[in-house]
Amino acid sequence: MIEVKRMKTENAWKKYADKKPVFDFCEGYKEFMSLCKTERECTDEIIKQAKKAGFKNLDTVIEKGETLKKGDKVYANNMGKALALFVIGEKPIQEGMRILGAHIDSPRLDLKQNPLYEEAEQALLDTHYYGGVKKYQWVTLPMALHGVVVKEDGTKVNVVIGESKDDPVVGISDLLIHLSAKQMQKKATEVIEGENLNVLVGSIPLEGEETEGVKENILSILKEKYEIEEKDFVSAELEVVPAGEARDFGLDRSMIMAYGQDDRVCAYPSYKAIEAVTEAEYTSVCLLVDKEEIGSVGATGMHSRFFEDTVAEVVALTGGNALHVRRALGNSAMLSSDVSAAFDPLYADAFEKKNTAYFGRGLVFNKFTGSRGKNNSNDANAEYIAKVRQVLDNNEVGFQTAEMGRVDLGGGGTIAYIMANYGMNVIDSGVAVLSMHAPYEVTSKADIYEAYRGYKAFLKDIK
Ligand code: MN
Ligand code: MN
Repeated sequence: MIEVKRMKTENAWKKYADKKPVFDFCEGYKEFMSLCKTERECTDEIIKQAKKAGFKNLDTVIEKGETLKKGDKVYANNMGKALALFVIGEKPIQEGMRILGAHIDSPRLDLKQNPLYEEAEQALLDTHYYGGVKKYQWVTLPMALHGVVVKEDGTKVNVVIGESKDDPVVGISDLLIHLSAKQMQKKATEVIEGENLNVLVGSIPLEGEETEGVKENILSILKEKYEIEEKDFVSAELEVVPAGEARDFGLDRSMIMAYGQDDRVCAYPSYKAIEAVTEAEYTSVCLLVDKEEIGSVGATGMHSRFFEDTVAEVVALTGGNALHVRRALGNSAMLSSDVSAAFDPLYADAFEKKNTAYFGRGLVFNKFTGSRGKNNSNDANAEYIAKVRQVLDNNEVGFQTAEMGRVDLGGGGTIAYIMANYGMNVIDSGVAVLSMHAPYEVTSKADIYEAYRGYKAFLKDIK
């Protein structure tokens, strides 16, 4: 009899003799997710962890006139919103790097630059949403305010309101069902209007204030607690995000519910994988970028020259030249990680079952993403995919391949195609997410753990 190999990926849970390492790894992830709800908070926390793990600030290495050699660990901080970490390998960098990339920005509501107003004795903050959101999902939830206010003299005030038990939360109202006959007839895109995503923050008028007393009271609270004034909102980045901690999800605790898992569910295991590198043949890199959700634009997005310039610095510190920078980039291999859509039996119609990601089947690979005939996608080379497959199989990492939903239903972009511009091998990979871009997204712990294992195997073994 000829043995026929079926294209069926095993459920990773079945292979664990001991599930404890899976759950333990995810405890660290949950802590990270509860703490880090903005790109700035992610950058700060990862730098904190990296320093503990022996990573040095690249700027300091340059300032001190030091050089870099095999085994050295450095990080570069891009405006506090993105970062790149390097572990120098045995081979010269021009032979290529092994890069793990992900993004650390997530959909949210940003305060406008002139946000605070009072109406009907309520104080509200006007927002403009960031990234793709179903606006109707963001009302009647406990929300928190995270971000920075930078005063004219440069003083930076960090703001986190709504996370500790004693903190108040804020939020957006919705019309009561009793009066919603008209609203319920609207299209889902119009049920909640973008301009109506205004956050209620107060209702007590300041004593002695005849006009806009509630707004004045909020301003006096901000002044007292943070020493900020109304005009300081102009130079602030304040993000309204779902309040509360990441939680175990499911009666079997097999999943995690948290805000911002797109794409921190890939960023965290990518960082943990480079943190675990002690020695490697090729230089290992973990690149965590901002602005993916709005097109990878700006100084902290993947389109910026930051990474290329940082590689140039690292190459110079290992004794290389400008040509070596081009070669280092062109000869690299990358896992560009971003979340994939997990199959949802409630919306089975949106998926093509043979080519979709399932919870528990491990790290997801997308040969291409994009929409309307693969537009704007990175189409990974078959030769490269073969190498990646082999490394994962050799290391017994659970993985699956998928497309984002049925053909022509929609699609999404990632940072993969931008890195591919250097001529390096890149493939989209990542973790499957249920309810992607909703205030609370759900992931499988087995997938997070397999992602971590897969990233480590990639850094170690890709030739
Ligand atoms: Mn993403
Ligand atoms: Mn996204």
